[in-house]
Amino acid sequence: MSKHAGVVILAAIFFFAHLGSSRANDELSTYRVDDISIVRIADKKGGVPPEVFVGADKAMLEKVLHGGICPAMFLTFLINSPTDLILVDTGNGEARKGRTLDLLKQLGVSKEDITKILLTHMHGDHVQGLFSEESKAFPHADVYIEQSEYRFWTDRRNIARAPSGMTSCFDNAEKLSRLYKDKIHLFTAGEKILPWLSSVAMPGHTEGHSGFLLAKGGKSILLAGDFLHCLSVQTPYPDVAVIWDSDQDLAKSTRKAILERVADTDTIVLGGHFANPGAVLFKKTNGTYSYEFVQPDAN
Ligand SMILES: [Zn+2]
Repeated sequence: MSKHAGVVILAAIFFFAHLGSSRANDELSTYRVDDISIVRIADKKGGVPPEVFVGADKAMLEKVLHGGICPAMFLTFLINSPTDLILVDTGNGEARKGRTLDLLKQLGVSKEDITKILLTHMHGDHVQGLFSEESKAFPHADVYIEQSEYRFWTDRRNIARAPSGMTSCFDNAEKLSRLYKDKIHLFTAGEKILPWLSSVAMPGHTEGHSGFLLAKGGKSILLAGDFLHCLSVQTPYPDVAVIWDSDQDLAKSTRKAILERVADTDTIVLGGHFANPGAVLFKKTNGTYSYEFVQPDAN
């Protein structure tokens, strides 16, 4: 990729990451699956600018976004089960003004209480919160990450295969392996992590990008990471990729496969960047996907 493309990517990441904090009433919302609650935590507000879309028709973007950006969020999720307090992704962390730790406190949860951390992938906006400067932000947590994802980012020979501007992901992976050492658990995509919680293979955005499916008592929720960044653009046009995808063609086929799997089912989907209110049911009509927002069970 050209030097110019690298500059564009860095600029876009900066833009994506720094749009200020979200409004208080949008910060925490709760969904339930049987006796398990899932709290959607607004780590930070963001937005996806039109220049990051790849393969999008300009007129379509103009029509959907009206010349603006696609609203988006940086999100983490707290899963509260009878046996575990699990955090899915850790957000931007102190260094990038992520709010996850503050919002956990508001929920009465301390960083010591988190027993497991599940990572969808190694991009900074999902893993920076693992660290408090040079120590673990979550001292008692076991960290779960898909094995090919971990191996990719812990091997600096892969720098040339990653999108430009992502060398910090290799630094984060090195820090993860050093600080969390024997607390790291590598899983294979699709593997069950708990009886009611399975990983779901979603490669393309990164090497081993994974979602997590919670299913219990006839209800299910899919925590879908970054398989789709902008609902209004990439739901009707799943062939539109983003510059942050490691393998744009694979990301497209994953997006279409996941949409096909969940469309017209009762599975509620929560994405890592979906705009508020942030939970959706996908539909398919005459071959075109659409979505409806689902209101939370409690705020
Ligand atoms: Zn992301």
